[in-house]
Amino acid sequence: MRDQFVLADAFGRVATDLRVSLTDRCNLRCAYCMPPEGLDWLPGADVLTDQEIVRLITIGVERLGIKTVRLTGGEPLLRKNLEWLVADIAALSPAPEIALTTNGIGLAVRAEKLAGAGLRRINISLDTLDPEIFARLSRRRRLPDVLAGIAAARAAGLDPVKINTVLMRGINDHEAFDLLRWAMAEGVRLRFIEQMPLDPQHGWQRKNMITAAEIMQRLGQRVELVEDPEDALTRGSAPAELFRVVGTGYSVGIIAAVTKPFCGACDRVRLTADGQVRNCLFARTESDLRTPLRSGASDGEIAAQWVSAVAGKQPGHGINDPSFLQPDRPMSAIGG
Ligand code: SAM
Repeated sequence: MRDQFVLADAFGRVATDLRVSLTDRCNLRCAYCMPPEGLDWLPGADVLTDQEIVRLITIGVERLGIKTVRLTGGEPLLRKNLEWLVADIAALSPAPEIALTTNGIGLAVRAEKLAGAGLRRINISLDTLDPEIFARLSRRRRLPDVLAGIAAARAAGLDPVKINTVLMRGINDHEAFDLLRWAMAEGVRLRFIEQMPLDPQHGWQRKNMITAAEIMQRLGQRVELVEDPEDALTRGSAPAELFRVVGTGYSVGIIAAVTKPFCGACDRVRLTADGQVRNCLFARTESDLRTPLRSGASDGEIAAQWVSAVAGKQPGHGINDPSFLQPDRPMSAIGG
């Protein structure tokens, strides 16, 4: 029987949720995430191969107690063999829960295959229902593809289908209620995310951020919201706080990553597309697993390096500390 460890840190938290970035590339250029011209992509040789990704995930699941594997990016659907990767991960023992975070472009023709391969949960990003605002915000005219992707995810039985929305002042912040009404009608779970300082331009400003309180206030002009009574019992490490729309069975999520950090309950660890372990979106250090992986280290040795990487996890993301410095990698290169 092989050794079993857990990914514990010095503050009593244990990482069981692994977020794997499959690529730093994306086919959108969302203003809060990427500049119009894109970024200097990782050199192809630096990006982990399918086999390397599966080997690291296998070590995480079989030796280190990882229970959920979320595939992200960049845009994970740009990875051609995504269906095979999902099938390989689904075949691990114990089988992890597999989730995908995507912009939905191309999902219309892949959702069924992904579900068949073992994908269960999906988060699709959608910031607006207006094609012109979509084009302005993401610098691409792809709203119909995203909506088709969401419909396909539902038809394929992926459950839950969650919608991630970032509101930007003066661009799409007037759409909060329209998005809620749409999500309720579609039967998808809407979650607003506070914009975080992870843009490559380092242009984030607190005063421009639409806060959770502001989102509540805007929605509150149209519907009555109360804390979801079940959320307090079931939230656990989930980043979204849920609010019930009074008179309905629907709850909307708000991820107040900046104004109400939830670091104390964090159970996440990240792996970048070039094989670096990150303990936090805002970490300023990484631990290299690609070098040992490519220089003949055993699974046990890699597991030991991973354990010591997570042991050094900081207590919080520090955005609200006066000494906060934005990480060098933007969101798209970390894996959101
Ligand atoms: N391309 C995929 C997608 O669009 O979902 C996965 C990667 S994307 C980086 C993951 C999520 O991060 C998206 O929902 C996106 O809206 C969110 N995101 C990106 N930059 C952000 C920022 N600065 N603050 C908050 N959320 C951000």
